[in-house]
Amino acid sequence: MFEKHCLICGVEVDKKTSPKRFGKYFCSDDHAQQYVTKREEQERAMAEEERKHPRRRGGCC
Ligand SMILES: [Zn+2]
Repeated sequence: MFEKHCLICGVEVDKKTSPKRFGKYFCSDDHAQQYVTKREEQERAMAEEERKHPRRRGGCC
């Protein structure tokens, strides 16, 4: 099945007409924007986490 669903509200979307962000389809620009905002927040949270707990370089030793 090639049906796509909006990641925000789960409604079926038409690939040809729906807005697309990061390879995902949405029912409206509004929901596409919500997804972008959510993703940016996640990325910011991850960057924050990285800052607090920097990964060790060069493996475990
Ligand atoms: Zn939607």
